[in-house]
Amino acid sequence: MRYKDKVVVVTGGSKGIGFGCVRAFVEEGGSDVVFCARNAEDGQAVAAHLNTHGPGRAHFVQCDVSKVDDVRTLIDETVGKFGRLDCLINNAGWHPDHKPIDDFSVQDFRHLLDLNLVSIFAACKFALPHLRKVKGNIINMSSLVGAIGQLHATTYVATKGAITALTKALAVDEAEYEVRVNAVSPGNVYTPLWQEAIDASDDPAATRASGEAAQLLGRMGTIEEAGRLCLYLAAEATFTTGVDHVLSGGAELGYGRKTRRG
Ligand code: NAP
Repeated sequence: MRYKDKVVVVTGGSKGIGFGCVRAFVEEGGSDVVFCARNAEDGQAVAAHLNTHGPGRAHFVQCDVSKVDDVRTLIDETVGKFGRLDCLINNAGWHPDHKPIDDFSVQDFRHLLDLNLVSIFAACKFALPHLRKVKGNIINMSSLVGAIGQLHATTYVATKGAITALTKALAVDEAEYEVRVNAVSPGNVYTPLWQEAIDASDDPAATRASGEAAQLLGRMGTIEEAGRLCLYLAAEATFTTGVDHVLSGGAELGYGRKTRRG
């Protein structure tokens, strides 16, 4: 067991990449994992399923990360129950539909900042007094597009770029306490969020194929690959801090056609 007797919090852990993290820490880490989501039925079902196998344990807490009081309660309940916190994985986030800046309101942007970015600042702030005691670590789920941009996604890309920047600034401050702070920047990872985009498109088969073709490796990443990277960062990457770990299958490499002009 790679992260035994450790306590981990994962936000947005009932589905997708967050679920991949919860499962990796429970099954390979042997950790106690407290995870949150808004839908309690889903969360409880996931916990019950994982707890039939172990060897770690999954514990669900209902929490909407865009509500600061919920985030505070998530951290407080975890430490109240287990007496410690070793790793915080800030994963919950959302990608709105693609559209030009003209069609996003300022309020849309503010809401997304609260959900994708302010939630992470709050969780880090509440967790750090506990993480410092055990020289723990934080993993923030950013995105490849936070570094390279994406068509018609100004608000999302801005939140993700800021997550990577926050990660580096916090790594600088927290090194004094030997708390490591890292980011993971996925390219396309096949999750319910991606399936929603496929379902909503005019041509679902073409949308999926183009999502797969965006990577050099010719496929999307899996939630297992994301979970394994996070477990490695927490358990083994003990000399790694302030690094943005790109999990992209090479999506950002190589010259390619970027415009219809010319
Ligand atoms: P997903 O399939 O939509 O799963 C999101 C999870 O977060 C669910 O468990 C959801 O449960 C929970 N969640 C959503 N909003 C929440 C909120 N306000 N409070 C608490 N929990 C919430 O998403 P995903 O594709 O796995 O993405 C996870 C993270 O990776 C996001 O930050 C995303 O930006 C990032 N990312 C994903 C990709 C990709 O290709 N999939 C690429 C780059 C970055 P409830 O709905 O019940 O709350």
